[in-house]
Amino acid sequence: MTRSTDAVAKKTNTTMGVDGCPACGRYIAPEALRDSLMVCPLCGYHHPLGTLQRISQLVDDGSWEGIAVDGVLSDPLNFFDSRPYPARLKAAQLSTGLPEAFAAGRCTVEGVPVGLGILDFQFLGGSMGAAVGEGFWRLTEHCIIDHVPLVVVTSSGGARMQEGLFSLLQMAKTVMALEELRETTIPFLVVLADPTTGGVLASFASLADVIIAEPGAQLWFTGPRVREMTTRERTPEGFGSAEEALKCGHVDLVVPRTELRQRLVELLILLQGGESVLGEIIPQRRKTAGWRAGGAGRAAERSAGVARAAWNWLRRRDR
Ligand SMILES: [Zn+2]
Repeated sequence: MTRSTDAVAKKTNTTMGVDGCPACGRYIAPEALRDSLMVCPLCGYHHPLGTLQRISQLVDDGSWEGIAVDGVLSDPLNFFDSRPYPARLKAAQLSTGLPEAFAAGRCTVEGVPVGLGILDFQFLGGSMGAAVGEGFWRLTEHCIIDHVPLVVVTSSGGARMQEGLFSLLQMAKTVMALEELRETTIPFLVVLADPTTGGVLASFASLADVIIAEPGAQLWFTGPRVREMTTRERTPEGFGSAEEALKCGHVDLVVPRTELRQRLVELLILLQGGESVLGEIIPQRRKTAGWRAGGAGRAAERSAGVARAAWNWLRRRDR
């Protein structure tokens, strides 16, 4: 599937219907909000994004080629609560225009080839059922075959309750896919958007070489109410935010959406030790410490040390 940025923007424009910022309450014209990548220009609130919006913001125009995920049993438990699970799936498909919560594809970002996955909260809360796990597995396989970095943007409520144990098994499946990736020198970057919780945060989303979060993103295994009921302790102020996760070391970088694309490219180039792509894309970096860190990384293969060199360099640059 190839989708032009214009087509995506058109759909975005007609489906968002945003008429006020939920954080500051001020009215922002939809055009202005779209121009600021759905970040409130007044208070910095990062509005939720759907899959098509993410693609239009991150991916080079016309480069997206979707990876199909078919042959997955869609209702293994014949689940029924207030309505049948297949009916919920159908409704989510109709409202989002997506076949499932996880979209996988090959694409380029600023000319750098990547395998990109997007877990969309607007599709049944971005919950991880069997089709999501299979999509993640196939995307990882493509990255290994094509030898391109894996980048995944997450926004998820965790497991998909309608699939019960089959949903929980996806935690193991996605971790196994990453074990395969670890046998190579291919980097894995994750972007945690609001919210990333439960079984997604407790599996692949916390296993990237570099973990990036969007400002204000809520990142936790269980919500404050359940946590307080279980521990009988009050939740500290700010607990579970991207900013607190950064202080604790769970997150490596908190990157505003307006800088996300550029930061991803910088990290991808550094983590690949990218002599070849670096020369073509940003030749002025050849003499920087960052390039030297990347070169050392290439010799030493992929390691945490390379990732640390990459983000240390980014922090030094921003001082
Ligand atoms: Zn605002």
